[in-house]
Amino acid sequence: MSNLRFKAVKKASQTEAVEALAPGAKVSGYFGKYVFDRNNMKKYLSKETLKSVLNAIDKGEPLERQIANHVAAGMRMWAMELGATHYTHWFHPLTEGTAEKHDAFVDFDGNGGMIEEFSGKLLAQQEPDASSFPSGGIRNTFEARGYTAWDPSSPAFIVKDTLCIPTVFISYTGEALDYKTPLLKSISAVDRAATDVCQYFDRNVKKVFSYLGWEQEYFLVDKALYAARPDLVLTGRTLMGHDSAKNQQLDDHYFGAIPSRVAAFMRELEFECYKLSIPVKTRHNEVAPSQFEVAPIYEECNLAVDHNLLLMSVMETVAERHSFKVLLHEKPYKGINGSGKHNNWSLGTDTGVNLLGPGKNAKENLQFITFVSNILVAVHKNNALLKASIASATNAHRLGANEAPPAIISVFMGSQISALLDELVESSGTKDIVMKEKTGTRLPLLNQIPEIFVDNTDRNRTSPFAFTGNRFEFRAVGSSANCASSMLALNTAVAGQLKAFKAEVDALIAEGQKKEEAIFTIVRKNIRESEAIRFDGNGYSDEWKKDAEKRGLNCETKVPLILDAYISKQSEELFTSTGVLSKVELHARNEVKWEQYTKKIQIEARVLGDLALNHIIPVATRYQGLLLDNAAKIHALFDKEKAAKIAGQDLVIIEDIADHINFIKTKVDEMVEARKKANVIESEREKALAYCEKISPYLEEIRYHIDKLELIVDNEMWTLPKYRELLFIR
Ligand code: ADP
Ligand code: MG
Repeated sequence: MSNLRFKAVKKASQTEAVEALAPGAKVSGYFGKYVFDRNNMKKYLSKETLKSVLNAIDKGEPLERQIANHVAAGMRMWAMELGATHYTHWFHPLTEGTAEKHDAFVDFDGNGGMIEEFSGKLLAQQEPDASSFPSGGIRNTFEARGYTAWDPSSPAFIVKDTLCIPTVFISYTGEALDYKTPLLKSISAVDRAATDVCQYFDRNVKKVFSYLGWEQEYFLVDKALYAARPDLVLTGRTLMGHDSAKNQQLDDHYFGAIPSRVAAFMRELEFECYKLSIPVKTRHNEVAPSQFEVAPIYEECNLAVDHNLLLMSVMETVAERHSFKVLLHEKPYKGINGSGKHNNWSLGTDTGVNLLGPGKNAKENLQFITFVSNILVAVHKNNALLKASIASATNAHRLGANEAPPAIISVFMGSQISALLDELVESSGTKDIVMKEKTGTRLPLLNQIPEIFVDNTDRNRTSPFAFTGNRFEFRAVGSSANCASSMLALNTAVAGQLKAFKAEVDALIAEGQKKEEAIFTIVRKNIRESEAIRFDGNGYSDEWKKDAEKRGLNCETKVPLILDAYISKQSEELFTSTGVLSKVELHARNEVKWEQYTKKIQIEARVLGDLALNHIIPVATRYQGLLLDNAAKIHALFDKEKAAKIAGQDLVIIEDIADHINFIKTKVDEMVEARKKANVIESEREKALAYCEKISPYLEEIRYHIDKLELIVDNEMWTLPKYRELLFIR
């Protein structure tokens, strides 16, 4: 595209922004404009090509090279008309976030010139220089390189001047080096298993989708203040900072009006999201000052995961324009509510039935109870694994920290469904359940569900995994996490359980039991066996921790040990039998997770050490010097007794400062020694554990004394912005 044309396009898109943001502008006018969705495909692809692509998207059929060339050509034309000059394979390595390498749409034309080029081959597959992405040793052991491959189920989109093509990232030997690969496999595993179970109820069901609607919490902070906090810049959270005199005690932020500067940011964020087909719907303040939430309408799980990752990067760009920084860390401020993601998850059929919503008749309700009870078993059996799927160094500050969900996975069902489940178990025989009807069955208990369940105000905010009427809400997910991690664990756990369920029911049918009777027998057994995972009480209480321990739920709080759940015999069996991850992949991925954990704490320890030694101690010493000067002058001018009286307080503070400084210095030195010891540990697991047990406690201890100094030292001398400045947006 000529430079002039590019400028014109750019100008047009700016005008577009102004118009779209004007009051009354219709979202439908620009929704999905920068996405190569079905609408745009229709315009840029031939009928035949379109048909093949849709088959690839909807049925997972392979695309022929020739067709891929046509798709690439159409995609390039569309993208260039919107000002794109580059393309990239957009993928999610095992670190959080996305990775991309941008290539221009050009190639040699063979005559010494250049032509715009983008072939099917470049669309379908690339070989990024992946040596710098974590692989847990897979690439070293097997092959030196990995490749990215197009995921047609998530449409390509344009960000700035770049066409982004969602891809998976795999090693040459086929092991997943990303989250998307196993996520897609888990989606297909749960589809197969759930479709099989649906056959008991409705033979028309051919496919089951998993859906995800995330709610994303985040903090905003003024960019200039952020820049003056090296800890925020380097670790994403404040490693020091005394409570503000006012923080969230009044809870006035939650219901308060959105500050106008923030509202402008949100409006533009929504505009950018809509152009990229991210269907954001709600926005509001959260509990803490400067904390907000954005949530879309739920979508198919793979797409929803991509949209969440995209949202996180769009947020950063938009924030920049409003002189904000977005904090996605789970706990940017001590003593202030943390941020999570609430992953609303459900299963639905291609016939339009939500399998987690009570139905219109007894048969649909038996299906509903079948799915709910199997999910209870899946979560019960795999509660340790699900916890591992959300565990990270950053989320550890939130979980179990007397807010947000505790570090124990339990399920809240609400009083009505709980009562129904209990009743079902007690209704032993088949007498009150199997009664004559056209299908041979009438289920009085299950007939009642729609009525008793219209009101779903029954909520429990302390539960990490709550049933909310027509879906489960996995609330323990961290705000900075890739949603794929938790969703793939959940999908896989449920897939494994549904398979087991079907096998058990089929066995009873083979023994001569009627279908409904067999289903009931196993459903009852499932409800009984998963009883320990159901908890409707206060998840923050200490009694719950004791109770959970007795129930045999996983209560581990140390992240490196929580991660062990990925490589337990049971998890290995689950992941391999469902075909989602191999044993090699599971182990390799844990190596990456332990390494990531270590690095996070290591960086925090270094930053805190540096700040303590070259910011805090020098400032405190300078202030101490002022006080000493003052005291000395007082002593020079007044007689001893009077001087002691006047300078008394100075002397107390001088000693106080000395105590804090000594403590900080000693602890920083000890922390450095502890790091040296940990760093030579070979095993990633043991090293992470050493960082967890031996190093992270220093962060808290040192911080305590720094925060005390913050209260004492002259405000003018204190170079770091304080909580009261960071937290209140003006
Ligand atoms: P809350 O009361 O928890 O704030 P919202 O009404 O804001 O709930 O919805 C939270 C999220 O749940 C939204 O993304 C919404 O689209 C999603 N959601 C609603 N129904 C379903 C469903 N059946 N499956 C998955 N997600 C759903
Ligand atoms: Mg919610």
